[in-house]
Amino acid sequence: MHRRITDKLVIATHNPGKLAEMRELLAPYGIAAVSAGELGLGEPDETGNDFRSNAAIKAIAAAQATKLPSFADDSGIVVDALDGAPGIYSARWAGPSKDFNAAMAQIERLLQERGATTPDKRTAHFVSALCVAWPDDHLEEVEARVDGTLVWPPRGTAGFGYDPMFLPDGHDRTFGEMESIEKHGLPPLGLGLSHRARAFVKLAEICLEPR
Ligand code: IMP
Repeated sequence: MHRRITDKLVIATHNPGKLAEMRELLAPYGIAAVSAGELGLGEPDETGNDFRSNAAIKAIAAAQATKLPSFADDSGIVVDALDGAPGIYSARWAGPSKDFNAAMAQIERLLQERGATTPDKRTAHFVSALCVAWPDDHLEEVEARVDGTLVWPPRGTAGFGYDPMFLPDGHDRTFGEMESIEKHGLPPLGLGLSHRARAFVKLAEICLEPR
């Protein structure tokens, strides 16, 4: 049986970009979102082998610490020509200074080394795994992806992370060139475009009721 989120939800992220996106996504459901950062919660080690288990580790830690339903996501970019790297290490590739220009340059350098110069060899996808954990150990988990190709040089200043390099299939502008409303493509304007929005649509179907 799926369980509904009713009034308050802890967002277990310290990433301001993700927090802003989640608040935007939750707004139509009348859910009060309080962040792990605002509550002074620590960040557990992400020791899982995949996106799904890392999302669960973060959500469970926050639910245990706050005794409130807690939401976490784990996400990243999976580059086919790099055997799936950076994948679950997408944040780490930017280093302690969170330098995503350097992380994108690193991807580009590796793609060039492997001769991945044409779009068909530069395919990638973003993945978003979402987990809501309750203090009694109940979990709701969903996952979604968006496919695209990597461009160089990066384009656009909107968004965060690897957005300026990612051209979603069927579009001629990168995520970095899209306003967040277009990047997410949420109903009623779309059926979900970004990995996070697509996963969120799935989560909303099972856990949320529009107000
Ligand atoms: P984590 O989920 O906090 O481990 O971090 C995942 C990392 O993947 C982020 O720091 C971003 O660099 C990257 N990432 C995840 N989602 C997006 C996105 O929508 N756009 C650009 N980069 C993203």
